[in-house]
Amino acid sequence: MGIRTIEQIELKGKRVFIRVDFNVPQDEKHHITDDTRILLSLPTIRFVSENGGKAILASHLGRPKGKKDPKFSLAPVAERLSQLLERKVVFATDCIGEDVQKQIGGMEEGGVLLLENLRFYSEEEKNEESFSKALASLCDVYVNDAFGTAHRAHASTEGMTRFVKIVAAGFLMMKEVESLERALINPQNPYVAILGGAKVSDKIGVIQNLLNKVTTLLIGGGMAYTFLKAEGFQIGKSLVEEDQVEFSLNLIEKAKGKVKFLLPSDHIAAEQMDIQAKRGIVKNDQIPSSWVCLDIGPETVKIFSEEIQSAKTIVWNGPMGVFEMEPFSQGTFGIAKAIANSSAFSIVGGGDSVAAVNKAGVAEKINHISTGGGASLEFLEGKKLPGIEALRRE
Ligand code: AMP
Repeated sequence: MGIRTIEQIELKGKRVFIRVDFNVPQDEKHHITDDTRILLSLPTIRFVSENGGKAILASHLGRPKGKKDPKFSLAPVAERLSQLLERKVVFATDCIGEDVQKQIGGMEEGGVLLLENLRFYSEEEKNEESFSKALASLCDVYVNDAFGTAHRAHASTEGMTRFVKIVAAGFLMMKEVESLERALINPQNPYVAILGGAKVSDKIGVIQNLLNKVTTLLIGGGMAYTFLKAEGFQIGKSLVEEDQVEFSLNLIEKAKGKVKFLLPSDHIAAEQMDIQAKRGIVKNDQIPSSWVCLDIGPETVKIFSEEIQSAKTIVWNGPMGVFEMEPFSQGTFGIAKAIANSSAFSIVGGGDSVAAVNKAGVAEKINHISTGGGASLEFLEGKKLPGIEALRRE
């Protein structure tokens, strides 16, 4: 695919710029509340360091909007990284400039340095050439291991690669690209895509692209109600995007004879979105006009699970219901378990479905859990991601 991995390049003695994703959640005291993203980047950092490269790490954190704001400093990340690596991590208080150059100049082979937040400069997101050149001047080799930002053409993900001779993908990036490509290029059939979440409008591109690839399309979550309305059902107070009803109807027509297109047949409906509210299981033609459907029902879980069981390739994006509330979580967890029990090659993407897989305790049984919600959606839409294209060289 024209992308080199870090295993294929000479690292010894080289200044290796690694674009990582250290955009970690923190509490108000700047304590890191979830270090998954740091943990996931360790194999690449260790590999560079163990092979004698000088690892220069760069990331964004939050939205400082081009201003140096201590609230968004990466200093706490340097500390946590140092604990995890069990070695010193030098923290640079800037990400470009003479002082940084000096610090890098003083690095030993195998050393690790973390640059300050890239988004302290508005030029990062604007992908400005002068900023890209300033970043490129810090290194001999460029490595991208931040799949989550690969759908953005920023200076650190795209711009600077034009000024660095040797570019490569880190282990995390490689796994994302290989797994997602497996779902798009010659996937094994039966191929089942399960799409859920709040809105049809967010998933139009994915539905359209996957319609040409999959054998079965299962729709759940809030977006299912726009489709059910298009089919003529009375959906009560369930979530609906009126402006997508016609599109949904066209899509159902397009799917006919091409793929198996399944909508939920029953639901967990409630008087309102509240765990205390009166609720019950209803079929499509029984939805009370003043009630709201908040999860797929047990019959739907069974039907969807049967499709999942016979699949060889599975892609899942978006929860089947309001899984954050226990009474409306069984549909999403049921699907998570069905995917975990299947022998298919499975990919789960999107923050909410990833959270559901973790909450259901089945994460280890999924072949690939994508770290980038937006990036994996765009990949599945068939779009070219600037951060990945920038790594392709003859
Ligand atoms: P998305 O970000 O598009 O993947 O949507 C995820 C959100 O959709 C979650 O917060 C769910 O609570 C919500 N959701 C899923 N099913 C429903 C539903 N039937 N009604 C309302 N919201 C839903």
